[in-house]
Amino acid sequence: MSYDKTIAQAARTELERRRSQAQETARLNLEGFLSRCPRAVEIRRELSSNASEAARAVVSGGEVRMELEQRKARGLALREEYDRLLKSQGLTRRDIEPQYTCPKCRDTGFVEGRMCDCHRALRRSIAYRQLSTGLPLESCTFESFSLDYYRDDPAAMKQMGIIFRTCREYAENFRPNSANLLFWGATGLGKTHLSLAIANAAIEKGFGVVYGSAQKYASAFEKERFSREAGEGTAGDLKNCDLLILDDLGTEFPSAYSNAGIYDVVNDRLMSGRPTIISTNLALDGLEKRYSERFASRIVGGYAMLGFKGRDVRVQKLNR
Ligand SMILES: [Zn+2]
Repeated sequence: MSYDKTIAQAARTELERRRSQAQETARLNLEGFLSRCPRAVEIRRELSSNASEAARAVVSGGEVRMELEQRKARGLALREEYDRLLKSQGLTRRDIEPQYTCPKCRDTGFVEGRMCDCHRALRRSIAYRQLSTGLPLESCTFESFSLDYYRDDPAAMKQMGIIFRTCREYAENFRPNSANLLFWGATGLGKTHLSLAIANAAIEKGFGVVYGSAQKYASAFEKERFSREAGEGTAGDLKNCDLLILDDLGTEFPSAYSNAGIYDVVNDRLMSGRPTIISTNLALDGLEKRYSERFASRIVGGYAMLGFKGRDVRVQKLNR
C-alpha cells in the first residue's frame, strides 16, 4: 500500500541493475580480451611498472627530466600498442570500460549527494506504470475528452466547456500548492476521465500522485485499524503525496472509523496546503449528511467546486 516507498525501492533496484550490467559487460569483455591476447596482459603490467618507475625517478632526483620524457614516450607507445591489440579483436576502450546509462551519476542515482535527473525520470516512469495498472490512464486524456456528448443540452455544453478548460489549465500549471477541486455530479459525466487526465499531466511533470477510490482507502483504513504498522500506513501516503485524487467519495461502505480517516486526510492536506481532487455524486448537503457539517464546511472553505452536467456519457456511448 505504501505508494511512494515502493516507487523509491523500484527505482533503486533498476539503478542497481543498470550499474551492475554496465560493469559486468565491461568486465567480461576485458577478461575475454586478456585471455585471447597474452601480450595485452604484459602491456598492462609494463604500463603500471612504467608509472611507478616514473614516480621513483622523481623521488630519487638526478636526470629527472630526461628520465620522465623517456617514461612518457614509453607509456604512449605501450598504450598505442594496447589499442592496436584491442582493434585486432574488434574492440575499443569503450568496450572494456563500464558504459553507464547515465555517465553523469554512473548509474548511482546521485551526483554530489543530490538526486540525479535520471533518477527523478526513472521514478516518474515507475509511478506512471504503477498508476496505470488497472486504470484507463492512456485513454483518459484531455485529447480524448469529447464535448460532443453534451451538445444536445446547451446549458450542460457551456458548463462542461468551462470545466474542461479549467481542468486543462489546472493540469498545465499544476504545482504542489495548486488549488483543491471538488467534482460533483451524477455518474457518467466525465468526472473520472478529467481527474485521470489531470493525474496523467501531473505524473508527466514528475509529481507524486496518488489516485484511488474512497472505497479502496476506506477498506485500507479498516484493515490497518488493529494492525498499525510503524509509520502512518495508508493515511501517511495519502497525506504526503503531491496530488491526491479521491474518486467516488460517498460510495464507500459507511463507517465512523473510515469517515474519520477520510476527514483526517482531507483536513491534513488543507492545513499543509497540498492539493486534493475529490469526485463525488453527493452535493454539499449530501456530504454534510454522509460525513459531518464540519467536513462539508471544510470543503466549502477550501475547494473550488465544479458541478458536472449532462446525460450519462456511458449510456450515450452504448446507444451509439
Ligand atoms: Zn544519473
